Amino acid sequence: MALIVQKYGGTSVGTVERIEAVADRVAAAYHSGDDVLVVVSAMSGETNRLVGLAQAISENPLPRELDVLLSTGEQVTMALLCMALEKAGCSARSYTGGQVKILTDSAHNKARIKEIDGHRVKADLEQRNVVVVAGFQGVDEAGNITTLGRGGSDTTAVALAAALNAEECQIYTDVDGVYTTDPRVEPKARRLNQITFEEMLEMASLGSKVLQIRAVEFAGKYNVPLRVLSSFKEGKGTLITFEEESMEQAKISGIAFNRDEAKLTILGVPDQPGIAYKILGPIANANIEVDMIVQNMGADGSTTDFTFTVHRNDFKRAKVQLELTAKALGARQVAGDNEIVKISLVGVGMRSHAGIASTMFETLAKENINIRMISTSEIKISVVVDERYLELGVRSLHEAFELEKKPNSKA
Ligand code: ADP
Ligand code: ASP
Ligand code: MG
Repeated sequence: MALIVQKYGGTSVGTVERIEAVADRVAAAYHSGDDVLVVVSAMSGETNRLVGLAQAISENPLPRELDVLLSTGEQVTMALLCMALEKAGCSARSYTGGQVKILTDSAHNKARIKEIDGHRVKADLEQRNVVVVAGFQGVDEAGNITTLGRGGSDTTAVALAAALNAEECQIYTDVDGVYTTDPRVEPKARRLNQITFEEMLEMASLGSKVLQIRAVEFAGKYNVPLRVLSSFKEGKGTLITFEEESMEQAKISGIAFNRDEAKLTILGVPDQPGIAYKILGPIANANIEVDMIVQNMGADGSTTDFTFTVHRNDFKRAKVQLELTAKALGARQVAGDNEIVKISLVGVGMRSHAGIASTMFETLAKENINIRMISTSEIKISVVVDERYLELGVRSLHEAFELEKKPNSKA
């Protein structure tokens, strides 16, 4: 018998009525003969509410206790869904991450799954119970509760699908698939029937929050068929495929953007070997991740300017550190800007099409949008622009690359 893993996000379980609607959908799959394992998120807004409570007590809550707190959101949903399933005629049992057990490392608030012991869950499924698992959480070796980072229920679902060899992992959410860009920013965005793993990985890592990046990584690594669908509307959604080439002969498959960006510049540092290390070493030691890096030639030849981007949450800490470095190196000045965003074009079609970057730059220039930084790799081009240009930038690029139109399918 086939095992299907279904994950329902916060909006899909946002009220008791919606939880009952999820129960009906799960019951339909169960009564059609499939074994069903459901992964649930906290009810919408709940994780944010819990974070708010913690921050009302401390600006930096204890990571271990924050995880104890945050993991309760999913626990509420799993119990309510089991009750609703019982009412819908399915026997159902709920499990926290620790009960399953989903073993993680000890990195609180951003733990990684190391291993899943599925034997209890398997025994339940074999007896034709629907199993409901709380997403976003696990336990470490010492038995401490951990959470997997925001959006982590996606990863719980994919990891369970991999561990239990499920036929498909279905991510039910408030959109009916993966779109050419976030439909909240560009209403003309088009749903994709398929997207390659490689592209989905780039989209997720460049800011498309429809799937957590680790979920996509896991699915790629363990060959889990992954589909994004709506819990409110029927349809086939978007399949993440293992094909190397996009089915659609598009130059660009999608546009991702990330608002969580900030940039820092150190001006007038002596241009000598080891300077990048002297600037970024202390940033790395402070556990701050750096994304884009640009080093310019200084006008005078003996000094240089050095710019990099960090997560907006790390901006203040990074700036304090950089000011210390500037003093130690005798640099002229430190400048920072946390009102920037990154917009990226993604597509495996880029490999075989030239001129994508120039079309991108031309489009932004026509709208008078100044590009602050650029970075490219084989299947993506990213630019950093001022935050106020995010919507305009995304929409004008969407139009320039004709993403609302379906490209000709391959013969
Ligand atoms: P859930 O709570 O179900 O996990 P999320 O809010 O995490 O839902 O993810 C769904 C949201 O992702 C959508 O409402 C949409 O605004 C956003 N999103 C961003 N980029 C895309 C994209 N390319 N395609 C579809 N949705 C996207
Ligand atoms: N509830 C968690 C969050 O809001 C995990 C998830 O929904 O995937 O980030
Ligand atoms: Mg999500």
